[in-house]
Amino acid sequence: MSFFEGGKVITMIKPIINTTIKASSQNYTKCNSRKIKYIIIHSTGHVATTKNYALALKNNKCNASFHYIIGDKEIYRCIEYNNIAWHIVNPNNTYKIKMVQPKNSNSIGIEMSKLNSNTGKVDETTIKLTGQLVRYLMYLLDIPPNRILRHYDVLSKPCPTGFLTQEKWNKLKLKLLIPHTTIKNAQNYNCIAKVICDNKLNVRNNRPINNKLGKKVDTIENNTFVKLGYVYDNWSSIFYLKNNKILNGFVNINYPKIMGASISLCIY
Ligand SMILES: [Zn+2]
Repeated sequence: MSFFEGGKVITMIKPIINTTIKASSQNYTKCNSRKIKYIIIHSTGHVATTKNYALALKNNKCNASFHYIIGDKEIYRCIEYNNIAWHIVNPNNTYKIKMVQPKNSNSIGIEMSKLNSNTGKVDETTIKLTGQLVRYLMYLLDIPPNRILRHYDVLSKPCPTGFLTQEKWNKLKLKLLIPHTTIKNAQNYNCIAKVICDNKLNVRNNRPINNKLGKKVDTIENNTFVKLGYVYDNWSSIFYLKNNKILNGFVNINYPKIMGASISLCIY
């Protein structure tokens, strides 16, 4: 099942990323380019301020490392995503291998830091920021929802702690994939959107008039970029390019579930 089913409109905001703390080069494997296929979610249960956590990667030689550390209302990127972080490590084969395809070399590691030693929980702000980052990376690197995994899906290591039961992970994954904001009616967006649909999205010549749909004039394929205009009654005006021509029309941003279509909106 695709998490994008159901005609939901997915908004995506480019996250603010703090890159001021870089991991020591002894804590990752340098790489110029690589194909990234997976995003692996971690939460080791280590309690520290997020900044100190990032500083540990800078100042110490560590056995494990992550590209991103999230917490304290900040996203730190300590390792560029072309470089290989050591987040799926299995010293002395301590843990059982559950999936062989995801490896350090083809994945990005995200650590959600735990800030409160009393509750031992990842807070909601951290989850919200992790969602922003996950959706942005999915869009940037063309990673589908089924390749967002827990460390625990790959190895039997209990990580991310607090999300080991399938029910808890499903809830977290939904929060990561479905954003907190949606496209609102009666707003002029004037921004670029990417259409994500299992089927084709119909383009019509008008918004519905007296509940009668406008005439179907075209269809838009999955992954097409469009410029979204004014949204009214769940219909948006759009402009898009086809065969070097600029075309325009109207699409339903709340498409019926049966068609499995949705629009992923990227606000720059
Ligand atoms: Zn882990």
